Order: sequence, then structure tokens, then C-alpha cells
Amino acid sequence: MRGTRGPASLSRTFNPTMLALARESRGETQSGLARTIGITQGHISRIEAGQSPASDAIISDVVDALGYPEHFFFMDEPVYGPGVSEFFHRKHNTSTKVLNRMHANLNVRRIHVARLMAAAELNSENIPRLNPRDFGSPEAVARAIRSTWNLPPGPVEDLTSAVEDAGGIVLHCDFGTRDVDGVSRWIPGLPPMFFLNRDMPGDRMRLTLAHELGHVVMHRAPRPEMEEEAYSFGRELLMPEDEIRPHFQRVTVHSLAEMKPFWRVSMAALLYCAGELGAISERQRRTLYMQLGSRGFRRQEPPELDVPIEKPTLLQEIVQMHQNDLGYTVDELADLLALKTEEMLSLYDVTMTHEERRRRLRAVG
Ligand SMILES: [Zn+2]
Repeated sequence: MRGTRGPASLSRTFNPTMLALARESRGETQSGLARTIGITQGHISRIEAGQSPASDAIISDVVDALGYPEHFFFMDEPVYGPGVSEFFHRKHNTSTKVLNRMHANLNVRRIHVARLMAAAELNSENIPRLNPRDFGSPEAVARAIRSTWNLPPGPVEDLTSAVEDAGGIVLHCDFGTRDVDGVSRWIPGLPPMFFLNRDMPGDRMRLTLAHELGHVVMHRAPRPEMEEEAYSFGRELLMPEDEIRPHFQRVTVHSLAEMKPFWRVSMAALLYCAGELGAISERQRRTLYMQLGSRGFRRQEPPELDVPIEKPTLLQEIVQMHQNDLGYTVDELADLLALKTEEMLSLYDVTMTHEERRRRLRAVG
């Protein structure tokens, strides 16, 4: 392992798909990139379509303009389009450019996971594929997952670590938009991946992760009822009916505020749950919803009730394993992930040796 510079799947030919991926991940258009490097948009377009070769001079300009190391553009990696969970997620007002950028970045992160996982073994057996029709309901699937994972009754203390213990990878990402909360992917040969928008409060991250887990477990192909199923799954996973119902004896804004830190879900989600379980009438639900709104809690719930953000650690541990057990230096890790070292250091929590720190300081100074 040690000393293998550059990734195994590195090919000797320029890969036009990687150029498009790099460009989109930086939110750059063909015309913008063409302007930056002083060629025509038609030229870039033909290079990306594989109709025109990329000269060494152009490759070198592209490397400077897009901030990826040269071997990024020579990788032989697949690029995936939107997954099953996104079938109904797209909001109509989100621009294609923003979504393209997000998907490009998720593809880049997927490549990181694939490269890091090549040296690690992860058992994802505890994230099974279950059909809600076989179980009777998505709630029953959620209960099956709770029992597979040996979760104690009541609130899920740390959903992220529960998912990671089961062999899922959770990543907090800069989506470049607030319109998408989360995306999940289960690509053959890799563990299930859960990408969460890092610009969300902790309670919303948990609900999003539970929802995406529902998609991963229940949905191989899109079907009309899948959104509702994922919501029901997430609700039962985080707020199991049998255990939460007694807490809904008398639902008020005050009682919702009291329940939030215990269940670690938003007051709005608790209210919604009370309505779904029939613990309150439709009329009560509407009144309470208006009361939340009049106090400004629909925009932002009281900061003192903030649910702590759960920190994923699994991918981080695999990065550290490369350093500690496989002897990767910081630069070799950056090489493995096809990133410039600075960017790698901004994405992953990497421990630097004294010598590496000194060299970096000198380079920066
Ligand atoms: Zn969904």
C-alpha cells in the first residue's frame, strides 16, 4: 500500500467526462471556463463531448482554472445521475445549474468514498432491503430496522452513529442551495451513502437522514407512494407510535417545546406526528400550527431548544486508518482523493505530522 502514488484506476488518457464533472462541481459554465482559459466555448464543448482532443496546454490551463490536480482529469471513474430518492425531491424553482453543481460535488465525494473504501472492509448487512408491502406498512419496516439495530425503546439518541454502526456512510456536504435537504445513494460495491445538506439545524438533519434511510431500505425503483412511505418510515423510526402516544395526552405549544429536546425532533415534526397518529383533531392541529407561526417558530424554533448536530465519524476513521495503519502522508492522501492538498484538508480532518505542518507553514509563508 505504502508508496503507491496515484490511484489504481488512473488511466493514461484524458477523460472528457472528468472535465465536465470538475467544471460543474465548481459551478462553472462552458462559456465561463472558455473565457477564463481563452478558448472558444465550441472548443470546450467539443473536448467535453470527446470530439476534440485536449492539448497539454489546455489541460494545464484547466488544472489552474478548476483547482483539481492534473490526474483528476485522467481518472476512469463513472459519473452517476440523480438517484431514486431524488425522483420526487426536486423543487421546481431550483435552477438546473445549482442542481448540476450539487450532483457533480456528490459524484466527487462518491469517488472519495470509493477510493477510501478500497482499503477498508465495511459490513452493510444491517441495512437490508425491505419491501413495505411484505411488512404491511413503512412503519413496520421502521420497527424492523429498530429491532435489527437493537435500538432501545424511545428516542434514537444518535441516528448518525446508528446508521454508521449499520455500515452506512454519512457525509455533511455543501449543497450550494437550501432547496435540497438530503440525497442518498446505494451504488453496487459501495456502502449506502447519505449526503446531508450541512446548512440545516440538527433536528432537520435527523429527520432527513431517517427519511433517506427509508428510501435506501424500501425503494429500489421510484413509485408514486414512495415519498409518503419515506416520511412514515422516518416518523416511526424517530417517534415510535407506541412510545410517543402517551406523551400526546395534552398537546400545546409548551408541551411540544418540552418534548423537543427529549425526542430530538422539531416542534413542527412532533405536531405533525400527533396529527398523523390521531392524537389531536385536524382542527387542533391547525390551531397549534397557527400558534407556532404567530410566535415565529415556523421560521425558526427557539434557539435554546436547538438539537445538537450529530457528527459523522466513520469516513473520518477510514481517512485516519490510511494515515496511521497504511502510512499515507497528507500529500499521498490528497493524491488518492484526486484533490489539491488544501482542499483535501478543508474536507477531511487529517492529522499532520510535525514535519508536514512545518513544511505547509513554510509553503504558505
Ligand atoms: Zn424522499
